[in-house]
Amino acid sequence: MTVYNFSAGPAVLPKPVMDQIQRELPSLQGSGMSILEISHRSDRFQNILDTAKQDLKDLLQIPDNYEVLFCQGGGTGQFAAVPLNLANHHRKIALLDSGHWASGAADEAADLGYTVDIVGNTKANKYQSLPYPDRELSSSEYDYLYTTLNNTIEGTTYHNQILPDHKDITLVGDMSSNFMAERYNVSDFGLIFAGAQKNLAPAGVTIVIVRKDLIHPAEHTPKILNYAPYVKKDSMFNTPPVFPIYVAGLVAKWLKDLGGIDEMERINQKKAAVLYDYLDESKLFHNHVKPSERSLTNITFSTGNEDLDAQFVDFATQNQLVSVKGHRSVGGLRASLYNAMPIEGAKALVDCLHKFEQTH
Ligand SMILES: *Cc1c(COP(=O)(O)O)cnc(C)c1O
Repeated sequence: MTVYNFSAGPAVLPKPVMDQIQRELPSLQGSGMSILEISHRSDRFQNILDTAKQDLKDLLQIPDNYEVLFCQGGGTGQFAAVPLNLANHHRKIALLDSGHWASGAADEAADLGYTVDIVGNTKANKYQSLPYPDRELSSSEYDYLYTTLNNTIEGTTYHNQILPDHKDITLVGDMSSNFMAERYNVSDFGLIFAGAQKNLAPAGVTIVIVRKDLIHPAEHTPKILNYAPYVKKDSMFNTPPVFPIYVAGLVAKWLKDLGGIDEMERINQKKAAVLYDYLDESKLFHNHVKPSERSLTNITFSTGNEDLDAQFVDFATQNQLVSVKGHRSVGGLRASLYNAMPIEGAKALVDCLHKFEQTH
């Protein structure tokens, strides 16, 4: 029986990629060695890294004045690395507090001694809508405006059409949970980062796309968080996460074969609509995010009753629909519909919701 995994991360990977990993695992490209065993200094791995980087550049149409870095430490590592590398002119950051991960990034930068001004927040309505700056922001005051593009836990997204105004300020975007799920223009951002385990690869690698001229690391920045050695040594000043980079490369190829990000976005919109259309009609389950701000990748909903929500989690699990429980900080229910989730998964979930609704 087919299991559909709606986990927010680590999350589902494309079936063809899983099959290829399985085929190649004992012997990579006829080498007699596994990807789990080969040296990161081998030509084979260098080629894997170069190809993955080029495919990301092609897919995201990354301009030449940007670097693509393969970092470790997850999204959380970037909460520290971004200010340490980018916030040393004014040591002052403007930040939109759109949810759990945005406020985590604010706390980390403040702990490191940077001034963090929360220029908009939607805490009062439990982050079910997006904040926008309450005033004009300028790069003569702030090093950048920090945004969390997709709020994984709350289910809201600054889609490309509704990005905050960034005429006079550098935009930084945490794209961990909608990386390559929808189209953005890289040139709108000074920096984008994405932990891989939501929509790209297994946990262990974080992609950083950064405009070269913005990199000014603070003195005493630990090397592992300092972009300069990553740039200088092509992300290999120490042992990189070999296996996640290999899988990221396979997923990038899969996405290219599928037709690229624009095609992926079209599919994701169709897939998300299956669930949102049901939720908008349902008498039992509700989503409270307005349509223009709804996430394509993390869809939150609830009956409004904790016990009923828990009963649905059990019912879904019995029907092979796994990990639909909301994040512990907000409760309720959540289905993550990442790139690798087939539309059949969304349909199976709607069938299950419908059955549950009929009996409750
Ligand atoms: C998961 C997540 C993070 C944290 O990532 P880790 O790799 O667990 O440190 C940060 N930001 C967003 C938007 C996320 O979804």
